[in-house]
Amino acid sequence: TFDVSPPFLNRVLYGQKRRHLHAVSDVSFSVPAGGCMSLVGESGCGKSTVARLVTGIYAPTAGEIRFAPGKSGAPLSAQMIFQDPYASLNPRWRVKNIIAEPLRELKLRATEAEIQDRVAELLGIVGLNAADGAKFPHEFSGGQRQRISIARALASEPEFLVCDEPTSALDVSVQAQILNLMRKLQDELGLTYLFISHDLSVVRHMSDRIAVMYLGRIVEEAATETLFADPKHPYTRLLLQTIPNVNDPQRDRVAAEGEVPSPLNPPSGCTFHTRCPLATDQCKAQRPELVEKADGARVACHFA
Ligand code: SF4
Ligand code: MG
Repeated sequence: TFDVSPPFLNRVLYGQKRRHLHAVSDVSFSVPAGGCMSLVGESGCGKSTVARLVTGIYAPTAGEIRFAPGKSGAPLSAQMIFQDPYASLNPRWRVKNIIAEPLRELKLRATEAEIQDRVAELLGIVGLNAADGAKFPHEFSGGQRQRISIARALASEPEFLVCDEPTSALDVSVQAQILNLMRKLQDELGLTYLFISHDLSVVRHMSDRIAVMYLGRIVEEAATETLFADPKHPYTRLLLQTIPNVNDPQRDRVAAEGEVPSPLNPPSGCTFHTRCPLATDQCKAQRPELVEKADGARVACHFA
């Protein structure tokens, strides 16, 4: 559970570029070991901020993030997989050196021969060949580059992976391959995932639970089947309607309805009231709390 309050906004340098860090408040969830929790919402909702808080890239202004001890008894370390595998791989390094870096830094292998063996093994785990290690990132497709990012993340033997839109830069067919690989790795290596996406259909088959975020807050959080079978928040229903459906092109129209307000100046009361078909005067005046329902879903809506 943690907050990042507005003074943090717009003041973060990330890599070489100035990035916006969106505020989040009252964000509270837990990820069980071996499970997958997903955060879903439109751009600017604060989901990437949450990812960077959990991995320790940013510190919260209030609240805390707690990890159960990992298998080794040492504090659990979270590794991050980013959206753009090209920007996150050093273009001047051969792939084998990119993957070997954490092995060297954390002294996970004693000799150079052991390092190279482990690099070859990691390349195999993500579906690449040992010979690919001699190449540079630009020699690979987007999907292959994301496989390299995953191999590098696995090199430090993490138990917890935070995946920020890991497939949204990829073609749909490649997306499915990477998602399948991530599911397979989760099973085989017993990994725990925090998975972030703007697309509910991407996280559906990955997630045990899903939290839907809107303008820095969780508006609904539920077991995946519950969320899809019985979405309770009007915003969750909007997101479900905008999942592209080839048989019903009309549905795409819903996406266009209603601009997302600026997170710098969120609406009063329920921040969704400017787009909500059910909004009343109460919604404009009073912010709904996140309340747990009989089926275990938590929802922040006066009329859920
Ligand atoms: Fe819509 Fe009101 Fe519920 Fe907010 S509280 S989601 S505006 S009905
Ligand atoms: Mg983002």
